[in-house]
Amino acid sequence: MKKVLILGAGAGGTIVANMLRKEVPESELEITIIDRDERHHYQAGYLFIPFGIYSPEEVIKPKKEFIPRGVEFIVDTIVNIDPGNRRVETRMGHYDYDWLVIATGCDISPEEIHGMNDAWQVDVFDFYTLEGATALHKKLKYFSSGKIVLNIAEVPFKCPIAPLEFVFMADWFLQVNGVRDQVEIELVTPLDNVFTKPVAARILARFADKKNIKVIPYFDLAQVNAKEKTIESHKGDKVGYDLLVTIPPNVGANVLIDSAISDPVGFVPTNDFTLKAEGFDRIFVIGDTTNVPTSKAGSVAHYMAYTLVENLVREMDGHEALPKFDGHATCFLASGFEKAILLDFNYKVEPLPGMFPFPGMGPFSMLKESLSNYWGKMMFRWVYWNLMMKGLDLPLEPQMNLAGKIRMTA
Ligand SMILES: Cc1cc2nc3c(=O)[nH]c(=O)nc-3n(C[C@H](O)[C@H](O)[C@H](O)COP(=O)(O)OP(=O)(O)OC[C@H]3O[C@@H](n4cnc5c(N)ncnc54)[C@H](O)[C@@H]3O)c2cc1C
Repeated sequence: MKKVLILGAGAGGTIVANMLRKEVPESELEITIIDRDERHHYQAGYLFIPFGIYSPEEVIKPKKEFIPRGVEFIVDTIVNIDPGNRRVETRMGHYDYDWLVIATGCDISPEEIHGMNDAWQVDVFDFYTLEGATALHKKLKYFSSGKIVLNIAEVPFKCPIAPLEFVFMADWFLQVNGVRDQVEIELVTPLDNVFTKPVAARILARFADKKNIKVIPYFDLAQVNAKEKTIESHKGDKVGYDLLVTIPPNVGANVLIDSAISDPVGFVPTNDFTLKAEGFDRIFVIGDTTNVPTSKAGSVAHYMAYTLVENLVREMDGHEALPKFDGHATCFLASGFEKAILLDFNYKVEPLPGMFPFPGMGPFSMLKESLSNYWGKMMFRWVYWNLMMKGLDLPLEPQMNLAGKIRMTA
């Protein structure tokens, strides 16, 4: 009997477990999935916690609700991967495999930045963890004057639209609380603009300007000076803050670094199109832990799963993996006042204006603010729990569709 071992039961690992179990019967394939955490976090929901829209309980469910029958779920910490012997070690045991799927995601690492931890959860907060988002809610609720700085420490980081969402939502939240006039909001980024892709960057920068959010580009964070409440770049530029909301460096799982599977930051060199680990046999990679040049997002992990499962089954049947993944990403960007902006793109085609998913009809509009986009964003939680995590199809093709998109250049 063949054995597939999946490392990580977050978004990517859970979808693969479900799709693969549907594809290959129990009599032919043993599937095991390992995760150190029994709770599944809907991370996209973290954004709404600082603003009191979601409570922490609303973004967590037991992982076992999403592990299909016929898949063994092990709660344990993975400590070593030995591709030569096709063996994975955990704190409590070891598991042999015929094929391995790495889906261990990425996490924040504030300790990488000098001084960042000095005022952690005093004046410096994150919203990329449940604890961070919950603590930030308590701070933001009472914030009535001064300067909020949202700083991106370095690239890559997961959900590249989340920093913009945060400042747009903060603009809304402070207006509703009647204190927006007393609060400055600044987005300080190492990028040349608010987003990486030129057409979307130009359009999204206009939204930031309209919302009176100052953008400081090309800022490579060197350190946080907690006493004087400034962030400092490698060039020596300083930006002062009263409240610093940070996207700390994002790093992959230590076990991948220790096992020499990944680069020094924990991202696994992965073929952009087949999702096979570069330089290793019988290892596939999905989600945030890959180094493929698209967004680190749950929607991306979902699209990737179609290629990964097809290729895994092909290899088990003695055929070569096909270069099918196109970098497809679909992201709803919450922009406050019950509006959101939709971005849909892939490796080759940047986010463009138009209608989605049905050309001319929508109901969602790309690179525009709309109420229907906001409902798309809020529906995503239901879609995530009830369709995506159960490996069910959405009314969307895994490969990006050009229909409905209006070609333009920046
Ligand atoms: C604030 C925020 C907003 C976001 N908004 C959106 C959005 O609007 N839309 C969207 O599509 N995506 C969004 N995302 C991104 C999305 O949540 C991630 O891209 C997605 O969860 C990636 O899935 P993954 O399987 O790669 O990693 P994860 O879902 O993080 O799963 C990794 C799993 O591996 C486990 N693991 C790691 N190391 C070990 C180990 N050594 N031993 C055992 N287990 C281990 C972890 O416990 C975890 O369960 C957002 C993320 C954040 C933080």
